[in-house]
Amino acid sequence: MIINPTEELNISDYLQLAEEAGFTHAASLSMESLLFRQEVRDMCSADLCRSYGRSWSCPPAAGSLEAISSRAKGFCRGIIVQTTGTLADDFDIASIRSISEKHAACFDILVRQIRKIRPGCLPMGAGACKRCRKCTYPDRPCRHPDKLWPSMEAYGLLVSDVCTRSGLGYNYGSGTMTFTSCILID
Ligand code: SF4
Repeated sequence: MIINPTEELNISDYLQLAEEAGFTHAASLSMESLLFRQEVRDMCSADLCRSYGRSWSCPPAAGSLEAISSRAKGFCRGIIVQTTGTLADDFDIASIRSISEKHAACFDILVRQIRKIRPGCLPMGAGACKRCRKCTYPDRPCRHPDKLWPSMEAYGLLVSDVCTRSGLGYNYGSGTMTFTSCILID
């Protein structure tokens, strides 16, 4: 789709952009599902994903729940996007990495497109940022601050709940892996 920065787009136009970017699934984001939960942040600090305190995109660097949620609360519409791929088995790390990288690349394309019309949009990524081989946190500033988007979990969002309430699956069955991101548009 050719973007005209002066043109108003509706949600179906944004979903078309998501499809063109290469996502497997996309839907209008349920804004009612954006509940910024302390218990999700508590899961971050439990560090089960080994990202807490290791990335500018994750707590505590991503900011307090209060600060980060206040940024998101001013928006009234957005879209949620997913990349699903298949795994040879539960330990197919190469495929998991490849699906994650594909998702991140598609999200870069989508954010770039939406920023042409909505420069103030708010992207939320899928887990910790993996743009650099080793994150500069905490010794030096982020290398790509214009492409640094905290994870949905950093916003305290329960991703499975946001997916379900937005009409998408969270898990598409055994032998598959799905990564989810969203973008608040305006
Ligand atoms: S872009 Fe690089 S430095 Fe910035 S958060 Fe991501 S991995 Fe860290």
